[in-house]
Amino acid sequence: MTSAAPLRLAVPNKGRLEAPAVELLKGAGLEFELSERRLSAGVRNADIELLFVRTEDVAEYVADGLVELGLTGADLVAEHGGALRTILPLGFGACSLVLAVPRDAAVTSVTDLAGCRIATSFPRVTAAFLADAGVEAQVVEVRGAVEVTPQLGVADAVVDLVASGSTLRVNGLRPIATLLASEGVLVARDGTADGDERVGGLVDMLRSVLDARGREYMMMNAPADALDRIRALIPGLSGPTVMPLADPAFIAVHSVVERSQLWRIVPALKAAGARDILVVPIEKVVR
Ligand code: AMP
Repeated sequence: MTSAAPLRLAVPNKGRLEAPAVELLKGAGLEFELSERRLSAGVRNADIELLFVRTEDVAEYVADGLVELGLTGADLVAEHGGALRTILPLGFGACSLVLAVPRDAAVTSVTDLAGCRIATSFPRVTAAFLADAGVEAQVVEVRGAVEVTPQLGVADAVVDLVASGSTLRVNGLRPIATLLASEGVLVARDGTADGDERVGGLVDMLRSVLDARGREYMMMNAPADALDRIRALIPGLSGPTVMPLADPAFIAVHSVVERSQLWRIVPALKAAGARDILVVPIEKVVR
């Protein structure tokens, strides 16, 4: 099913998710201009319009039907609480929403926080977590600088986003529970976008870029009788490509490998007799 209006996609206009979102969309081949005071941009080579909005507003835009798709953090989707469906996790913007207390507090678990004040920008997720744990505590909604609220005497604990945990440590806080793990996600409203082939096409292209990340293409020459050992080392996506060389005693083998495994695979390939090993980047993997 397609419609006359372009497919609208809300994208963060600033903040942590903006640059990786734009990089992913461009990597998927969408051609559009970015300008300083941009609110929207038409995609030149696809029936798609991008709307640049605040990261925390994306879920609302999607839920209200102002756009068909949104790109935002899973944490913000959870906090919005609307009927949104994650179509594709995007592998960037990874962080966790954690419950943390002052380092020296005599608190080991959430149950010790009954009657306490918990500061957060995620009141809905926090309230649900406390209800699940059967703990009655006061949720204090704050916007920004959540981690300083215990020092200010405004709260006894915080629920805040962390990536490395260094901000918590600098502010003398110690995590005691994780409420959720988050990353950038592509979302749609529940029950929509399913039959739209433009959504399917966009998702395929985004996924092809994500699948290519962390992978490399390897090429090598090897003695023909080393094929079984080499194949065991580099099984590839559907098996390695094997080609004869001018000298019938030798073959060329090509395969896709995980970059993180290269340090282990390359010496083993050499030991198996492979030589002239080339490793080149992959842009997309379309399945
Ligand atoms: P922004 O406030 O616009 O920079 O983006 C906030 C969003 O970035 C959050 O909702 C998360 O989805 C994501 N994020 C990734 N790492 C972190 C982090 N260390 N702290 C806060 N947000 C993060």
